[in-house]
Order: sequence, then structure tokens, then C-alpha cells
Amino acid sequence: MIPALLDLVFPPACAACGAGLAASAGEPWCPDCGGAVDPPDPCCARCGLPGPEGPCQACLADPPALDGLRAAAAFGGPLADAVHAFKYRDRPALARPLGRWLAARVAPPPGALLVAVPLARGRRVARGYDQAALLAGWVGRATGLPVLRGALRRVRETPPQVGRSRAERAANVAGAFAAGAGVRGREIALVDDVVTTGATAEACARALKAAGAARVTLLALGRAG
Ligand SMILES: [Zn+2]
Ligand SMILES: [Zn+2]
Repeated sequence: MIPALLDLVFPPACAACGAGLAASAGEPWCPDCGGAVDPPDPCCARCGLPGPEGPCQACLADPPALDGLRAAAAFGGPLADAVHAFKYRDRPALARPLGRWLAARVAPPPGALLVAVPLARGRRVARGYDQAALLAGWVGRATGLPVLRGALRRVRETPPQVGRSRAERAANVAGAFAAGAGVRGREIALVDDVVTTGATAEACARALKAAGAARVTLLALGRAG
């Protein structure tokens, strides 16, 4: 749908608290909520481990497949409310303001192909939409970068990552993804809603690199932990 029509169907409202927004509002939030969205804490720019922004010891010792991780904000407060509504309260229209906000806050690498982190099949069926794919679509509209659909797929279903340790998360998603030939030689910007340990992104990056991708950077709305 064209944006003006979307505004008629879904009058702009704060993605976190639901307060009405001016039709021209460029942000997903009302001023109060926007002021309470915190930047991400310092973390390794490669794997997202909390700490200094330079490569962490683990990345220096054993470089991951992921080349970079960029989150727009710390996951909490109004961003957590908005993502919760987006994922669990049947609000797929939030993809538009959140995707545009993500594109404005964390610029994808120039020339990148956008690839959404694939949702588990059961969660997609339950929700009726795939939030990472919707976000990637709006990041693409905002930046003019192409979205490569179906480039990455799950080859094994995995239980949710919630409540698992860092090592358990990595083991849970290892080898769960496969990528197609369309990524060969390309710069890839992976898109997801929230990144926690980066284990899912790393498993995706491994699959993309195995299919010949040149570089893989994750873009996420929020970084948790
Ligand atoms: Zn608000
Ligand atoms: Zn690191």
C-alpha cells in the first residue's frame, strides 16, 4: 500500500504507548517515549558482546562469520513495548515506522543486499506474518537497497532461544540455516528485530558465507543484554 493510504488505514500512533502522532511524524514514538529510548551500551562492533567497541578477545582469537553488528538502541523501555506489540499483539503495520527508524539509525553498508533472519515456521504460522521480513522490506524502501527474499532459509526448526545461556543458544541454532546462490560475492545486511547473544545472526552469517557472501552485517532494532 502507498504510505498516504496506510496513514488513512492506520492513523499514526506512538508505537510504544499508542498516543496519537502528527501525520508528518518521522519517528515511531511520541516525544516522551522517544526520549526514553536509550542508545545501545558499548559492545564489540563485530559480535555484540558487551564491552569496548573494538573487537573483543573472542573475536580476535577466533573471528566469527559475522563481520559487524549494529543495533539502533538498547532493548528496553518504549522499544521493548513497541517490539512486543509488533510481534505478539498483531500489529504488523508497526513494521513501517520501526523499519524506517532502523534505517535512519543504523545505515546499512553501501550496496548491501538486505536479507531477513528467517522466522521459525511454527512462529510464522502462529503470528500470521514474519516481522523480520516486514522490517527488511521497510528498510529497503527507506534506503533504496534491494531485499533478497528467500536467500536464507531454515533447514532445521529450533526451539526458542529465550532462557538459554550463550553457549546453549549457539548450539541450538548451529547449522539451522542455509543460503542460496544469490548471495555469492555480495555484501549482506541481515535484518532482525532484536539481537541478544548474536548466536542466530552468527549461524545465519555462517550459512551466507558458506554460499559465498563477501561480508555479513546484522542490523537490529534493539540489542538485549
Ligand atoms: Zn509514546
Ligand atoms: Zn566480539
